[in-house]
Amino acid sequence: MIEKRDFYIDGAWTAPAQANDYTVIDPSTEEPAAVISLGSQADTDAAVAAANRAFPGWAATPPAERIALMEKVLDLYTARQDEMAEMISLEMGAPATLSRNSQVDEGNITDAIATAKAFQFEHPLGDHAPGAIILHEPIGTVGMITPWNWPISQVTLKVFPALAAGCTMVLKPSEYAPLDAMMLAEMIDAAGVPKGVFNLVNGDGEGVGTQLSKHPGIDMISFTGSTRAGIAISKAAADTLKRVSLELGGKGANIVFADADEKAVIRGARHCFNNSGQSCNAPTRMLVERPRYEAAVEQAREVAEATKVAPANEEGRHIGPLVSERQFNRVQDLIQKGIDEGARLVAGGVGRPDGLNRGFYVRPTVFADVTNDMSVMQQEIFGPVLSIMPFDSEDEALEIANDTPYGLTNYVQSGDTDRRRRFARELRSGMVEMNGQSRGAGAPFGGVKQSGNGREGGVWGLEEYLEVKSVSGWAAE
Ligand code: NAD
Repeated sequence: MIEKRDFYIDGAWTAPAQANDYTVIDPSTEEPAAVISLGSQADTDAAVAAANRAFPGWAATPPAERIALMEKVLDLYTARQDEMAEMISLEMGAPATLSRNSQVDEGNITDAIATAKAFQFEHPLGDHAPGAIILHEPIGTVGMITPWNWPISQVTLKVFPALAAGCTMVLKPSEYAPLDAMMLAEMIDAAGVPKGVFNLVNGDGEGVGTQLSKHPGIDMISFTGSTRAGIAISKAAADTLKRVSLELGGKGANIVFADADEKAVIRGARHCFNNSGQSCNAPTRMLVERPRYEAAVEQAREVAEATKVAPANEEGRHIGPLVSERQFNRVQDLIQKGIDEGARLVAGGVGRPDGLNRGFYVRPTVFADVTNDMSVMQQEIFGPVLSIMPFDSEDEALEIANDTPYGLTNYVQSGDTDRRRRFARELRSGMVEMNGQSRGAGAPFGGVKQSGNGREGGVWGLEEYLEVKSVSGWAAE
């Protein structure tokens, strides 16, 4: 079994102030996979103090030098990508191929590097303000709190823009999936990033998560996770008036018009089941224009029944288990609620798939004839569960799509360009993806309403970590 009890603080692997073992469970087998430590206030304080000490030097390091160090980390990252993929499959159950092809993708790192290279950290205000200059300066020390579902992806989406900005940081990865982030810490160490710039303390939400949120030495929290925790963090951070950037849950609508391409429904159902449904941007509410509705339900059923469920280390195309027993029970309860509230169960249902008696496996499930007030339409399920309902008009589709507390990604499938553009404007979400075109490199990622309030990726992701300083009288006399 893997034993990784130390934290990475001030450039060194450091034993926790108090021993507090935590067992990481392999969700494919329910067997222990690793032992880590959960940190205490003393560990959090040590990491924040190290990051505060390192801040002036790192902030003053020219961007080109910071970027050169990021490129070194990238080299080390690409050299260990397969090992990282295995670690992610072990800790959170993503199938081996998904881990290798998607989970460990280096795109967030290359994007942060490209963005930083093109960014003007200082520039004149403009011709109307002679002698005035704008300086983009790092906000300070950032506390980063990340989830388990796309673990290294969420970590790299924060760490690299923050490094580029000149911030120092304390990362608390999810206690369910901490091993990938610990590998990244090894790479940051090996690349020679100055001590204290990046620190990692493992812990849970009540402990290190809350300590970081309240800490007077932390200038900003960047959080990805549930809306529940986002609210708790915002409250905890209020007394110190930190900047709080939140990437939270989602309940994406996928609006399929009768004139959508023939693969639209299959693509949408597969997308919903990908990563066992554990994606904040999963298209979990499929709204289908009436003439195509029954055929769509049938196609979704076929996709669900053809979706193989298997242990993470098995090669080939399939979905793995959910991350934990807690998530398994939550998803089971919501499937049962769907049945109890009168949705038509088309595929899947409660219980494990046939032949899998151990591990947190869920049956790919499709509900049809749902109504928008049902729990399966309103709550983020975070499992392989697709809910389908018909609509008769554009107005009705738009109203249903926007009738949710969330606003992360919505999807539109239609051959009618004008209609697609109307929907792109009127959907209340941070992102809209149409006709199967996913976001391009450097596009901003984030939501509105209870899906959060920040943007990651591209120039927006860099600006999250920067303050804007207005200076007049800069020009030489
Ligand atoms: P979670 O909120 O339970 O945990 C996320 C992180 O927050 C973990 O590190 C956890 O230890 C910590 N945490 C929990 N409670 C806390 C508290 N009170 N104070 C401080 N930290 C706390 O979420 P999860 O179950 O790990 O992840 C799944 C959720 O993340 C889903 O809701 C999903 O939609 C969301 N998510 C959103 C995005 C996005 O970009 N919008 C991306 C991925 C995941």
